[in-house]
This record gives sequence, C-alpha cells and structure tokens, in this order.
Amino acid sequence: MRLDLAGVSARIDARPIVSEVDLTAEPGEFVALVGPNGSGKSTLLRTVYRSLRPSGGVVRLDGADLWEMRPRQAARHRAVLPQHGQAADGFSVAEVVAVGRHSHRKPLGRETAADREAVTTALRRVGMDWAADRLMTTLSGGERQRVFLARALAQEAPLLVLDEPTNHLDVGSQLLLLDLVRSLGLTLLAALHDLDQAAAYADRVVVLDQGRVVGHGPPLDVLTPAFIEEVFGVRAHVGPHPLTGRPHIAVASLR
Ligand code: ADP
Ligand code: MG
Repeated sequence: MRLDLAGVSARIDARPIVSEVDLTAEPGEFVALVGPNGSGKSTLLRTVYRSLRPSGGVVRLDGADLWEMRPRQAARHRAVLPQHGQAADGFSVAEVVAVGRHSHRKPLGRETAADREAVTTALRRVGMDWAADRLMTTLSGGERQRVFLARALAQEAPLLVLDEPTNHLDVGSQLLLLDLVRSLGLTLLAALHDLDQAAAYADRVVVLDQGRVVGHGPPLDVLTPAFIEEVFGVRAHVGPHPLTGRPHIAVASLR
C-alpha cells in the first residue's frame, strides 16, 4: 500500500495547524514523523485515519482518495494505533481485538469463524494469545498497547498509522513494540517523539515544525546535529549505536 499526501492542509476551529504537507510512504516502508510538541504531527495523522478532513490537498492510498471512500472501505485500507492510555475498562482482550473486525462484517452481521480466527491470529502475532480472556484492566501498559496493536492487525489493513505508540511505556516495552511493528511488513507512518528511535527504526523521517515540513529523507541525511539544534533547540551527537551499529542520536541541553 502506497500512501501519498499531496499539499495536505488542516485547520482546527478555522486556525491553520498543518500547511501544505507533501509526504509519501512506499509499500512496506517505515516513515517516522518527528517534530516538537504542537508541530502538528497528531493533526496530520488525523487526516490519514479520517478523524479530521483536510482543508486542502489530498490523501491517497494506492492512488485512491481516502476521503472519497466509504467508512468500511477506508477501514480495510488503514488501521490506527493511537497513543497509549486509551480506556478499555470492562472489556476483555478478545473483545477489544474483535472491534478490529467490524469493517469486515456486514452491517449488524454476526461474528464468523473467520473473525474469531483473525482475532486469535492477531493476538498470536503480538505474543498476547495467552491473555484472550483477561480483562484489559488486569494488563500492564505494554501488554495493553500490544492488544491495541492486535486490534489494528485484526483489521488486516496494509497501512498502519501510529501516534506516539510508545508513550508511557518502559524502555523494554517500547523496543518490543517497535520491533514488532517493523516486522509486520506493513506500510508504517508513525509519529515518534524520540529522535533516537526514529533514526534507528525508520527508513525515512519527515520533520514537522509549526505545521510545515522542514526536512525529509533518510534519518542520517536529515537529522544532522545542526538541524536538530535548529528545530528542537538541543545539542546532538549523531553516530553509530555502540551496541547495534544502527544510527544513534544522543541529545543534551544547550546550557
Ligand atoms: P503534535 O502532535 O505535534 O504535538 P498537534 O497536532 O497535537 O501537535 O497540535 C498542533 C497544534 O494544534 C497545537 O497548537 C494544538 O494546540 C492545536 N490543536 C490540536 N488539537 C486541537 C484541538 N482539538 N482543538 C484546538 N487546538 C488543537
Ligand atoms: Mg501529538
């Protein structure tokens, strides 16, 4: 699934938040959206998961205008993993994941054997099949976020949109989740606040500042120390990670 944003702008209460963003993600590519707080990352992602209609430009999936699709058709094209911390009190793990099957059912249709199989498969892929009957409230934050990932996988959409999916998770759970999403073979568009994780995991980064794209390309081409200082106001060291050899970014305050 190829994602293509052309000149996308978004307003909230008539205030321009995102301005003329061009962005592509090729099939199977991991594109990280980075930028300071309030730069418009979540707002831009909302135009891709259809919670906010762009005020200008177009969002295309394999050439088709996402905002022209019917809701069920759109749901089969792209799934969302929102920030950690959604409420799911009172629901079991299997019930939460089954929500991902809605777009595959006829209106008011009953759950089929294929739906149940998809739920089980999705839970197995995130390593949570042991917890199918557990209540969401009895899981750790990292486990809960993996269940929400399973819900997105059960949707069987080729594009996955993630909004700071590792927020509030401990480091082990953060890396487990990122390893997992990268192994799925899906097209990924993820807002990440950790530059080091963006550099280590993404094929390309798109940098937003005040609603505009100020940089895009392979992480090491874009995230130079001078650029990071300009956009984020911190000193940065960029080099190979001492443990993995992958791109690594360490930051320190300017003081
Ligand atoms: P980011 O995800 O990069 O932190 P957001 O897209 O959440 O940025 O926010 C961008 C700007 O839009 C901020 O100035 C924020 O205050 C504003 N904004 C976001 N959501 C709303 C909303 N629902 N109502 C009013 N303003 C909003
Ligand atoms: Mg945000």
